[in-house]
Amino acid sequence: MSTETIAAIATPLGRGGIGVVRISGHDLTKLAEPLLGQLPSPRIAQHRLFRAQDGSILDDGLALFFPAPYSFTGEDVLELQGHGGVVVLDMVLKRCLELGARLARPGEFSERAFLNNKLDLVQAEAIADLIDSSSEQAARSALRSLQGSFSQAVDKLLSALIELRVYVEAALDFPDEDLDFLADSAVTTRLAMIKQQLAAIFHKAQQGSLLREGMHLVIVGRPNAGKSSLLNALAGQETAIVTEIAGTTRDVLRERINLEGMPLHIVDTAGLRESTDPVEKLGIERAWREIEKADLVLLLVDDTQVEAEADQEAHQAILSKLPTQIPVLTVHNKVDLTGKAAGKQGQHIYISAKHDLGLEVLKAELKACMGFQGEREDSFIARRRHLHALHTTQAAVERAEEQLLVFNAGELMAEELRLAQDALGQITGKFTSDDLLGEIFSSFCIGK
Ligand code: GDP
Ligand code: ZN
Repeated sequence: MSTETIAAIATPLGRGGIGVVRISGHDLTKLAEPLLGQLPSPRIAQHRLFRAQDGSILDDGLALFFPAPYSFTGEDVLELQGHGGVVVLDMVLKRCLELGARLARPGEFSERAFLNNKLDLVQAEAIADLIDSSSEQAARSALRSLQGSFSQAVDKLLSALIELRVYVEAALDFPDEDLDFLADSAVTTRLAMIKQQLAAIFHKAQQGSLLREGMHLVIVGRPNAGKSSLLNALAGQETAIVTEIAGTTRDVLRERINLEGMPLHIVDTAGLRESTDPVEKLGIERAWREIEKADLVLLLVDDTQVEAEADQEAHQAILSKLPTQIPVLTVHNKVDLTGKAAGKQGQHIYISAKHDLGLEVLKAELKACMGFQGEREDSFIARRRHLHALHTTQAAVERAEEQLLVFNAGELMAEELRLAQDALGQITGKFTSDDLLGEIFSSFCIGK
């Protein structure tokens, strides 16, 4: 366990009424005395002058001291709230470094909290999510994870898995009773209960992951099919933040739309033409990488041209350039001109982007594609990492069941249960490798 004192600015950079420098370490007296005169009384905000090496005043503000172990990190924590801007805040931070602290890595405060058993991994990640959360539901969901409801559900399931595994292994150690054990309905009942709990957690986590990460959609189609119009129509009804992917052409737009709580990231590929301009090329490459991450490709066709051979060939050419594993939804636009009914016909959707026809059906289809069920109060904010771990657990539990029911193989069943336990334990960090830890915490902001 590291004993270095760490410090960082814990408030966002930029202008603000107050800024906070947070310091965590084993003994903060040596740092506090030259800076503040003396450490403040525990947990009471005290007014202090923050002093430079030569005794001059850097800032004045509040100092808050949380002695170990009753602090965020579990170590001694000192928070200095100055009212200076960025420059003064920076000077206070530099002063702390002068006094022996080192600059905290991103997420290092949370990492220490985790290592000191103040938080489990899910809770630590929830802090990052709370900071980043873009919608109210995502924030509420993150808060629930922070309070530990996701962890509790996972831990409960973990105990059930361990109990069953111990039960199976104990039975194997007494071969005489082996027969009894395999015929024992208690084992199958427990296994069924575990499967049920796992499915429920997976569902809540999946909804939470959609709240957090949303859906990545790529719109493709021939020029004039109405891609920009569709983007505007979708964005016009919802709050949209239009951003350009840095360094790309003006045509490759990335739009973020909130679909009843589910963020929808849209890439309009209008600008994905061949280019010799190096900057443009770079942007286009980046856009292609976005496309590879897409959950769905929306092929927009002009319904007035849909019969034309040139159009059909062009669509084939577009689709052949896309990664094959991504599903494609074909949407016919301009039904106001062709007189067809807006809505869903077979696998295709018919709309008019310009006249706002069929857009509700389209949005419902997008949510359905992702299994998103709209606003739900009880989802867990989850990451792909969690979903992946839950998925691995599910697969192992199913193999365990197969070993039991099909092959009557207790030994192999116990082995699968062990794999399930390992996979599940990764979520809260009970069996997590150091590499994964570093990766998780480095995605945090500095000062958290
Ligand atoms: P893009 O090149 O695919 O981005 O297509 P645009 O969105 O720029 O649209 C091309 C033209 O089709 C514009 O003149 C739009 O006004 C028109 N347009 C788009 N959607 C509709 C629609 O639903 N009905 C009609 N009648 N025209 C449309
Ligand atoms: Zn356009």
